[in-house]
Amino acid sequence: MKKLTGEVMPEGPYPTATGSVPASHLHRKGDQNMTTSSDTADLVIPDLIVIGSGIAGLAAAQAAMSAGMSVMVIDKGRRIGGRVSTRRAHGFTFNHGAQFMTARSPEFVSLSTAAIQDHALAEWHVANRDALCGTPTMRDFPVYMQRGLDVRQGIEITDIGREHDHIILTDKDGQTHMARHLIVSAPAPQSQRLLADVAPNLSALAGSASYAPCWTGMYGFADAPPPHDPAPVGDDAGPVGFALWEADRPGAPAANHALTVQAAPGWSQQHLEDDAGDVADALLAAWQEASGQTIGTPVLKAAHRWRYARVVASASDDAAVTSSCGRIAVAGDWLGGARIEHAFLSGQRAVAALTTAPN
Ligand SMILES: Cc1cc2nc3c(=O)[nH]c(=O)nc-3n(C[C@H](O)[C@H](O)[C@H](O)COP(=O)(O)OP(=O)(O)OC[C@H]3O[C@@H](n4cnc5c(N)ncnc54)[C@H](O)[C@@H]3O)c2cc1C
Repeated sequence: MKKLTGEVMPEGPYPTATGSVPASHLHRKGDQNMTTSSDTADLVIPDLIVIGSGIAGLAAAQAAMSAGMSVMVIDKGRRIGGRVSTRRAHGFTFNHGAQFMTARSPEFVSLSTAAIQDHALAEWHVANRDALCGTPTMRDFPVYMQRGLDVRQGIEITDIGREHDHIILTDKDGQTHMARHLIVSAPAPQSQRLLADVAPNLSALAGSASYAPCWTGMYGFADAPPPHDPAPVGDDAGPVGFALWEADRPGAPAANHALTVQAAPGWSQQHLEDDAGDVADALLAAWQEASGQTIGTPVLKAAHRWRYARVVASASDDAAVTSSCGRIAVAGDWLGGARIEHAFLSGQRAVAALTTAPN
């Protein structure tokens, strides 16, 4: 049996956008203040750098681009989308992050409607609600949101400083990236650390949010599952929180004999530091008991630990989301709630706040 640890991220089909957008794209039309520096990793200094290519970061970048700003998105992960994530391994596909999304605000309904028309989302009645899911995978939604943006994956920002009217970011490899404005859309604990020196008010705001973890088990089978009810199995009482055969998603290929089992928050917290192999075994046994389905031995078995999965306490709604210098803002689900839509709205709010802040 092939085993993957919780840390392995096998190759997926999506190219990163690194270098795919010409440098000229970063120029704002008619910008007389374009600065260059041979000391920086990126020769042209954009109006805005967004840290994070999750839904919040992509929403912020799209809103800023629409407002006429030149934008670059930087993310430490190998793939776009943050927690809206899909893993491919040994011929199997697992949507191991967010399972589905709902759209209620006019702004998100508008984007979702366009994404449905472009086949990046499909309607899905699941868990007793009218929801949406990415097609053919969840990650296809952030890929859709990426259009027209300069997104660079595989760059981890470790330090943020400010010099006069520029923000200076240093990455793990020691390279610097400069911009006139910055939006940090990392999960709250990571934003709290990154912003501690340069924007203490935003760091404190991030410190007020908290998350529940989620262990996710992934199992690939040589044969198709036996006939079964396609509705997901599980509830918040656990141990299984949400589990389904990937082929039961709308638009998913029937040949993908992949089972994804997400643990309930309480179970995940209780087993947070357990070995990934033990967790994969325990979740498969729990799923068999909860579903009543009998299946053979998986040919692939893995578990992924999301330390910061769902927001359980979000930051105050009426707090400022910009720094005192007016050049740095925060975004992320932790500013509004536990859903993809909250992340999206927070990105738009960050741009609105930055563009109206005095600096
Ligand atoms: C298991 C699970 C199930 C879920 N189920 C649902 C669901 O069914 N429905 C729903 O609506 N929501 C669900 N969610 C929540 C949803 O996924 C999130 O609310 C949303 O995706 C958060 O988006 P974000 O942009 O705020 O953060 P993220 O998606 O976490 O994006 C932040 C990005 O910042 C990057 N980053 C962090 N630090 C750095 C750094 N130093 N340098 C560079 N990049 C950095 C990260 O790599 C990441 O890509 C689920 C989440 C999980 C984990």
